[in-house]
Amino acid sequence: MRALLSLQRHTIRRQITTLGLVLTAGVLLVFGAGMLLHEASNRHQTLQATLTIEADIIGSNSAAAIAFGNEEEANEILASLAAWPDVRQARLFLPDGRTLGRYAAAGADDSCHVLRPSNAAIGFDLRWCGAVMYQPVRLHDQMVGVVAIEASLDSSYRAMAGTLAFSLALAMVAFVASIPLWRRVAARVAEPLSRLVELTDRVSREHDFRLRANVSGSHEVDALASGFNQMMHELQRRDERLTHELHQRRQAELRLNDLAYFDPVTGLHNRHYFRERIDAAVARAARDGGRAAMLYIDLDGFKQVNDTLGHDSGDQLLREVGRRLTDTLRRSDGVCRLGGDEFAVIIDDDSDSRQVETVAAKLVEALAMPYRVGQRQAPAISASIGACVYPDGARDRDALMRRADGAMYRAKERGKNRYWLHHEGGPEAPSRRQLVEESLDGALDRGELRLVFQPQFMMGDGGGTGTPTAAAVFGFEALLRWVHTTVGPVSPAEFIPLAETSGAIERMGEWVLREACEHLVRWRRRHPHLQMSVNLSARQLASDESIARLARVLANSGLPAGAVELELTESLLVDRSELMLGRLGQLRSAGFGLAIDDFGTGYSSLAYLDSFPITTLKIDRAFVRKLDDGEAAHGNAIARAIVAIGAALKADVIAEGIETPAQAQALVDMGCRRGQGYLFAPPLDEPEALALLERAPRRRLLPA
Ligand code: C2E
Ligand code: MG
Ligand code: MG
Repeated sequence: MRALLSLQRHTIRRQITTLGLVLTAGVLLVFGAGMLLHEASNRHQTLQATLTIEADIIGSNSAAAIAFGNEEEANEILASLAAWPDVRQARLFLPDGRTLGRYAAAGADDSCHVLRPSNAAIGFDLRWCGAVMYQPVRLHDQMVGVVAIEASLDSSYRAMAGTLAFSLALAMVAFVASIPLWRRVAARVAEPLSRLVELTDRVSREHDFRLRANVSGSHEVDALASGFNQMMHELQRRDERLTHELHQRRQAELRLNDLAYFDPVTGLHNRHYFRERIDAAVARAARDGGRAAMLYIDLDGFKQVNDTLGHDSGDQLLREVGRRLTDTLRRSDGVCRLGGDEFAVIIDDDSDSRQVETVAAKLVEALAMPYRVGQRQAPAISASIGACVYPDGARDRDALMRRADGAMYRAKERGKNRYWLHHEGGPEAPSRRQLVEESLDGALDRGELRLVFQPQFMMGDGGGTGTPTAAAVFGFEALLRWVHTTVGPVSPAEFIPLAETSGAIERMGEWVLREACEHLVRWRRRHPHLQMSVNLSARQLASDESIARLARVLANSGLPAGAVELELTESLLVDRSELMLGRLGQLRSAGFGLAIDDFGTGYSSLAYLDSFPITTLKIDRAFVRKLDDGEAAHGNAIARAIVAIGAALKADVIAEGIETPAQAQALVDMGCRRGQGYLFAPPLDEPEALALLERAPRRRLLPA
């Protein structure tokens, strides 16, 4: 029973198989037992009948012998029982109980029955060890004696044992044959259920409510499967609804967040966010002893766009402004639209006033580019920007915002399309950069600009001394110098970008070219092979007129082709338009050589380099500086690559910024013979340059 109960914990398949087999065994057992009983009863009846007949025969044959008391004859008659091997013993009794005749089979054991006459004993007596038949002997209907015959049951037992063995063998075969049968039955019944169980498992594992039961079996299994499918359908529906609702809720949250922190027109952060961000920035700067800056940006002329082109166009333009702001600024800078045409930028990275001014100048330039609205050109828009840096220009957040706002009005007052930085000296006093920027336009007219000339040498191998020599000056690079009346000397690296932004560079660049040509014409009278390199700003290539003007300057100077080389920055080569290629071609046909300055630091694609009419590559001093580090250095590999590119393009290669003999030697070793740098000479005044030219052209680089 316990075994059956424990079976419940097993699979249905196993339960069915086991129960089926138990059932089969039971049926076979009952059947076997029935067979045995049937055999026993048959044997019992046969034995009784046989003993009765034998006793009758013996009785009728021996009636006379009994009547005459003939013992011998009685024994003889009984001896005929030897023909029946089952008879163990027999006796003939006289009515008074004496024994007249007896028979005992050879070797028979008479311990089972002791044959004794008695009226009560007449009949059949069966025991496990044998059966006895007592029968009266009659003569003329009168009982004259009793015959008793005992038979052994051995042959019956043997026959029953045979039957038992046969039934057992049959049952065994039937049992074994039933095993696969029951298994199949179990499989048939359990298979659809197992599949349902597997499916349920998968659903709970994968949470895939689209799964459906595709099983059929008994009526119940079908009902179960369709119930399962209905349940899954319901689950799937609920799951989808839940997912949908969660999605909706997330969207709603995002929308709320957007509304709270973003400006719907431009997608930039809004005033609310700005407030939080500026608080955080000032608090951070105060804590770290750093800086935080804010810029107020107000568009100039925006109202006109709204009035003439409509509000949709206005929105479109505001989006473009937002795009330009984010493109120009770094990701870490916070850009917000405060409303209308007002924007604000938070710079929270400890930038100082100069860096903030650089950012402001870039923004002014970016926002002043022409705008298109749809297919139309928008009226000219620019930006006035007011900036203030915490803690340099303001001691707290409110002051910072107030002063940035004040500075913005100052920028408007001073003519718009510019920035104004509030600083310690008060709103009226301009910063150094503002001073520089404002006086840039007039610098040329006031005669504050002049040129210096840095000689360019052919480098020799030193004639076996192991130290390279600067063999001969073959040219000069003209470099612009400006000494500001109040600020003092201003580096071209500082004012050239400002002049490019303000547009002053065009006039300035033309002046540089004219000056450089005039100098060269004079110097070539004594040194006819001298060349001159002149730096050209990208702005100077922006229009056909300025190209024509440059060509005219060269033509007027009467210098031959190749005497003047224009140095362009590599970033120019990013523009591979027909227009740009055409303009460079025009410069080449006008007689200019074209050099790529600071080569290797820009973004020119090597694949397109040969489409430009280039005559010289200038290895940037960043790579020259690294030549000191020895053979394996990165700069070494790049310099070598530039020399190879130069050779492939059939262009000259010149290295700039050579400061040590090791750098010069490394360059000579890699095949770069042209060089320029403090090692040979710094940029020189005209008299110094002339003196250098007059000195012996061969000069050891280093004192021995
Ligand atoms: P650049 O054209 O690459 O000029 C080389 C700069 O390296 C010059 O600085 C020069 O003085 C400096 N230099 C020369 N030899 C050495 C050296 O051995 N070591 C170091 N560390 N520096 C050396 P400068 O004169 O301050 O000019 C800076 C940049 O300003 C120039 O770079 C050029 O891009 C620009 N620039 C100068 N004059 C003009 C000009 O007339 N027009 C234009 N558009 N740009 C100019
Ligand atoms: Mg240069
Ligand atoms: Mg350079």
